[in-house]
Amino acid sequence: MINVLLGSSNDHKIAEIISMSQGSNIAFICPAELNIALDVKEGVSSFAENASIKAMAYSRKYSGLVLADDSGFEVCELGGRPGVLSNRFEGLKTDYGRCQKVLSLLAHSDSTNRKAKFRCAMAIAMREELLFNCEAVCEGTVNFEPSGVNGFGYDPIFVPDGFSKSFAELSFADKNQISHRVKALNLVIDWINIHGIEAIGG
Ligand code: IMP
Repeated sequence: MINVLLGSSNDHKIAEIISMSQGSNIAFICPAELNIALDVKEGVSSFAENASIKAMAYSRKYSGLVLADDSGFEVCELGGRPGVLSNRFEGLKTDYGRCQKVLSLLAHSDSTNRKAKFRCAMAIAMREELLFNCEAVCEGTVNFEPSGVNGFGYDPIFVPDGFSKSFAELSFADKNQISHRVKALNLVIDWINIHGIEAIGG
């Protein structure tokens, strides 16, 4: 097995990534298992930059491969907002408040365009060197009201293309088959198997 530190403090993401990697040859380690606690300050320019900042920060604390991600929700009619500010959208403190804000902005818009996507950027670093970056999206539409209790963040208002249920109504396993995060993770796993093993001297 190849050990990779997961540079994240978001328990939902950690659970999803660990579950999605089952059956692969990668064992993800949580920062808490190594008593690593970091509060990494994110920028506002791009998901890719934020994922890289996080991967580099955690790679100062761990000598092996480190994976970090940055993700968010982009609503077409809102010019891609909430985007990189997804977890601090309009200064709102709760997922519920942020979902309601998106719904109310769309309700006040003249357009009927409800297209949206989740985007996930991932970065791998080792010994303070950035080794790999990738990005993936999951496209869909914004619901008219929140539905479902699973997941987190904007899941209750997002219906992925090809489905009639929101991410929060889908099971954990179903979301993890089609999400932006699993698509990015599959690129990461492919990279690790081709180049990561060499990077760690395997
Ligand atoms: P990050 O921890 O800076 O990457 O913030 C990501 C934010 O984007 C989360 O707090 C959520 O608001 C949103 N987000 C990212 N991925 C998802 C997802 O899979 N479901 C719902 N919301 C998500």
